[in-house]
Amino acid sequence: MSENTTITSNQIIKAVESLKDLRPVYGTILDFYGQIFVAQEDSKSKLHIDPIQISEEMLSIKAEDNFPLINISEFAIDAKEAGDLLITICDIVKKAGGDMVSTNQTVLKAIEAGKLDQKELFASLLNEDDAFFENTATELKIEKKALAFIAYSSLKPSLSMCAEQLSANLNKDKPWGKGYCPICGSPPGLSMFQGEGERFLFCGFCWHKWASSRIFCPFCENTDAKTLNYLYSEDEKEYRIDLCDKCKKYIKNIDKRKTDRIIYPPLEQVATLHLDIKAKEIKYESGIDLA
Ligand SMILES: [Zn+2]
Ligand SMILES: [Zn+2]
Repeated sequence: MSENTTITSNQIIKAVESLKDLRPVYGTILDFYGQIFVAQEDSKSKLHIDPIQISEEMLSIKAEDNFPLINISEFAIDAKEAGDLLITICDIVKKAGGDMVSTNQTVLKAIEAGKLDQKELFASLLNEDDAFFENTATELKIEKKALAFIAYSSLKPSLSMCAEQLSANLNKDKPWGKGYCPICGSPPGLSMFQGEGERFLFCGFCWHKWASSRIFCPFCENTDAKTLNYLYSEDEKEYRIDLCDKCKKYIKNIDKRKTDRIIYPPLEQVATLHLDIKAKEIKYESGIDLA
């Protein structure tokens, strides 16, 4: 079990508050995501997902060839609960105000009018059916990214629960050693140091956490210390940006040992947008799609 499975709504709220004290400029964005994350964790406790079964033979083939356990399209989800969460998320967006309100109202109306089928929306996200998002966004006159955000945010509890169930099939004694997620094959969205300084990566899609070498670029598997650098600021001792000069990609890293705050990785991800800006200024690209 990864540790972010046990976080309570209260802990998320505390994490939001301590980050807001540190970085008041993020106040609005932290309040917004804080509510989304609380809604997601609440939703997770209501999910009904039958664990995906993978035969021993298939498991050993996958382990041998370093294949992830499933493809994104194979995630088991609770579409009913994801649909309920979608309504809650639209409500949070409405209360927050801002650019996405009209998108959300349009999405809700389209669902009510039967013009947009939630199940199809979720299936299209998992099948990476870009044409569906393109067409639906055009038809409803909304932003494609906003539609994808709503769909992904509603599915996230299902994705992480399915990943947790599947993680029981991973070999605990053999380090994964790859830069992509052992569960779903997606690139990592965040890196973390903890304990004695061991490094872990978090999947940018299902948030599965896996152990990784420290001198290692997860995007091109570069292990040459001379071309792996990082940016660091004394003002924010718990963060650094790991840079790879081979593929010119970066990943944000949080050092858990350097802070007493409650660390909820998805929140750290959104509270560090200034690091993304910094990395882009010096011409490095994110290893994941930043919506
Ligand atoms: Zn994953
Ligand atoms: Zn690289």
